[in-house]
Amino acid sequence: MYGALKARIMWKVQPGFDRGNLFVSKSCDGINNWHQLGETTTKSGEFIDTKLIARGRWDEAYYKVEIQQNGQRYTSDVISTFGKITRSEFAIARVIMQHEWETLRQFTPIKFFKLRSDGERCTNCMDEDTGQKVGTSLCKVCYGTGFEGGYYPALDSYMHIGQISSKIQDASREGVGASDPVTIRVRMMSYPMMENSDLIVSPLSDKRYLIDTLDYGFFNGKVPVHAEVQLQLLARNDIRYTLPL
Ligand SMILES: [Zn+2]
Repeated sequence: MYGALKARIMWKVQPGFDRGNLFVSKSCDGINNWHQLGETTTKSGEFIDTKLIARGRWDEAYYKVEIQQNGQRYTSDVISTFGKITRSEFAIARVIMQHEWETLRQFTPIKFFKLRSDGERCTNCMDEDTGQKVGTSLCKVCYGTGFEGGYYPALDSYMHIGQISSKIQDASREGVGASDPVTIRVRMMSYPMMENSDLIVSPLSDKRYLIDTLDYGFFNGKVPVHAEVQLQLLARNDIRYTLPL
């Protein structure tokens, strides 16, 4: 199964195989380049891969579990972050996603900034002795993530803007000039996997949005093939406008 940033790999061991060393391995294509993620005991029955996102990019990941016991190595079936899908299901999903891409690229180009979950620790807002955050405003170095830069390098993609809604300006309200929240509904690719607070930038207008709500469309109820996303326009004075494109 997959969460937004983590994958939980679970297994059951046949009786008699519960004394060996157990390894979880990962590969990007399920065929080659397997690398071992960690050794654990057979008792725990699960392993959490917290590095599902590499270099800010979400890719499909494949896993297998191996047990070494009495000099023999026993290997599980390969599973992917899409769960148990057949090769033909995956092939069809690929075609759908390719078509989605061809359609979306006729619309608005975007830069997708994924919020950092690892990297160099920010020294601007973190007290080095206590590891606690200092200050209450959003840090201009890490944008509140605690990691320098705040975001992984941007990925280029496209969105199709559907409905735009905006609150009617109330002239009597305090804080004249503050822009009211504008919400847009867009259609986007299903990858990289998005999370609330990831940043979407339209480089042509430099409008910057936070992801508000997200719904994936699935093929066969298993493979995410597109996303319906609600975006919240950031106010012009938001610190996230200082992020270089
Ligand atoms: Zn910071």
